[in-house]
Amino acid sequence: MSADAAVESARRLVAAAEHVVGFTGAGISTESGIPDFRSPGGVWAENRIVDYQEFVSSEAGRIEYWRQKAAAWPAMRDAQPNAGHAAFLELHRQGRLDALITQNIDGLHQRSGLPAERVFELHGTTTEAGCLTCGDRITSDEACRRIEAGEQAPRCRECGGLLKPATISFGQAMPWDVMEQAQTAAEACDLMLAVGSSLVVEPAASIPRVARFAGARLIIVNRDPTPLDRMADAVVRGEIGAVLPELVRRDG
Ligand code: NAD
Repeated sequence: MSADAAVESARRLVAAAEHVVGFTGAGISTESGIPDFRSPGGVWAENRIVDYQEFVSSEAGRIEYWRQKAAAWPAMRDAQPNAGHAAFLELHRQGRLDALITQNIDGLHQRSGLPAERVFELHGTTTEAGCLTCGDRITSDEACRRIEAGEQAPRCRECGGLLKPATISFGQAMPWDVMEQAQTAAEACDLMLAVGSSLVVEPAASIPRVARFAGARLIIVNRDPTPLDRMADAVVRGEIGAVLPELVRRDG
């Protein structure tokens, strides 16, 4: 199938859908200047991974984790939503977006205008840090100011516990309540639109599969092949910012 034919077939599926659930990965934010994990120059090429076990057990691990966080934060904070995020907002405005499930931690879907209660963040958010003991939260701006002021691995000012960016690290338990809500939305939709995810990070990547098995149509928009391509009704390989606005267009 030609690229144009794939876009047209996906566009028809979107036009026919009434209950769309979006599923997004790092690829939707690369056009906002936030690198993904697996493309060349992505996050993994630049940093050593500090997993959850290392974070909770080693001060050196926490210092390294916060060093990476503080270095990445200004670009994350200043990033602006792009045409891909706007396309999901358009679906919401059309009254057809039941939920937006994201692996992303950048908060750009909410910044684009989607109501926070429609966005399920499976891997948490980088916009805040939380205390692992009492749950108190502070903004990442505040945490990074404290690092600049000399605290290498800041601690909770309420209880002295470990402060950690409110993202889910490797080895850390998933937020199962959010996962459950996402799964329920996936089971109820008539179209799952999976965008910018390599669909290999589990258990998040099983969400589009849940939707497909529950009878929804599945569209995958991604530059590279994914393991779920063979079960999709349409696979569009292209740049998200160019493709997604086409898919949600109502005319023609
Ligand atoms: P990934 O890096 O594994 O895959 C991203 C996919 O997006 C790739 O297959 C790539 O081909 C595609 N892609 C990148 N830019 C694209 C574009 N402009 N148009 C079309 N396709 C494009 O990302 P993932 O599947 O989300 O898994 C990585 C994990 O890392 C996520 O679970 C997430 O928590 C985290 N992460 C998040 C961010 C963020 O919040 N923006 C950034 C990096 C990593």
